[in-house]
Amino acid sequence: MTSIKYPLITPHFDAAEERNVLDCVRSGWVSSRGAYVREFEKRVAAYCGAQYAISTSNGTTALHLALVALNIGPGDEVIVPSISFIATSNAVVYTGATPVFVDIERAHLCIDPDCVKAAITERTRCILPVHLYGHPCNMDAIGDAIGGRDIFVVEDAAESLGAEYNGKHVGAIGDIGIFSFYGNKIITTGEGGMVVTNSCELYDKMMILRDHGMDPQRPYRHKYVGYNYRMTNLQAALGVAQMDKVDLFIKKKREINSYYRKYLSELPQIQFIDESPEANNVYWLNTILVTTFVSHEERDALIRKLHACGVESRPIFYPLHLQSIYSCSTSAPVAESVAVQGVSLPSSVDLEESDVFEICRHVKTCLS
Ligand SMILES: *Cc1c(COP(=O)(O)O)cnc(C)c1O
Repeated sequence: MTSIKYPLITPHFDAAEERNVLDCVRSGWVSSRGAYVREFEKRVAAYCGAQYAISTSNGTTALHLALVALNIGPGDEVIVPSISFIATSNAVVYTGATPVFVDIERAHLCIDPDCVKAAITERTRCILPVHLYGHPCNMDAIGDAIGGRDIFVVEDAAESLGAEYNGKHVGAIGDIGIFSFYGNKIITTGEGGMVVTNSCELYDKMMILRDHGMDPQRPYRHKYVGYNYRMTNLQAALGVAQMDKVDLFIKKKREINSYYRKYLSELPQIQFIDESPEANNVYWLNTILVTTFVSHEERDALIRKLHACGVESRPIFYPLHLQSIYSCSTSAPVAESVAVQGVSLPSSVDLEESDVFEICRHVKTCLS
């Protein structure tokens, strides 16, 4: 077995995380009551310029909580990009609503607003744009596609904490935004998630739904069939320490991307994900498209060869509309083509320029 010198992403912790977690253990505040939970929520809300934030057990429960709070259910359609992690569309299925998959834009791998417009029907209740791999979606064009209809926007910003669109933080642009703090995301709490919103009404409802639907004024009387989607103080203790470093992480992520561009620019078959003029990409992952690839097999061979050199890499998400668990007749040619050509390269914040140089050297050898 080859040892992996360059994993895709490892978390970055220092003494602050150790101190906060130890504080929870020593004080006994290890469940979801505890000072770190509120502090973490306040920090994330302030950071992304949202009025309210509610922490959750993970990003998937955050997505589900958001959709339930908007009363989305059977008979409703939710428009989802065809390239995302399965959690995006599964959350729609949990509510009983139908995910409607649409194509993405090749330049940024984000949902194509023209396809959104074409997919809107009488039943459309919500658009679920995913800010993929750190790049914000074209939110203005999505707003234009909605054109004043009564359709909600839930942003899946799981991979993109800190990314900006026209100077606004993603997550705080639509009706509700969600983040994930899984071990490889921009910041991590181990497992964890957050919903953010500017609506007081949605905030109140999501607070109740997250805690078994219990009426805050009347203990053990329940307004809804709710959930236990709470984050623990232990998780939030990590989150508070990570928030002190989020801007540093993003700065490092952007630098790492510039090194990849520098060292791979001579390869004409490699295409990078552009940063659109209104966007600030946080480059959660460094993803390249190898434009000469026409089959999954070619892409898998590159991943295998890189692995043999100690470099971990990953394919782009498999198109959701082609997943066997969903049966749909959608066609999304851009999604299908990038799924064959896309490979994500190591993107840990601890990578130095010399590391990226070495990784790129392996990429060049493996491609030649
Ligand atoms: C990670 C991720 C999620 C789910 O988050 P978890 O915390 O793993 O549940 C949802 N959507 C996208 C786009 C993701 O990358």
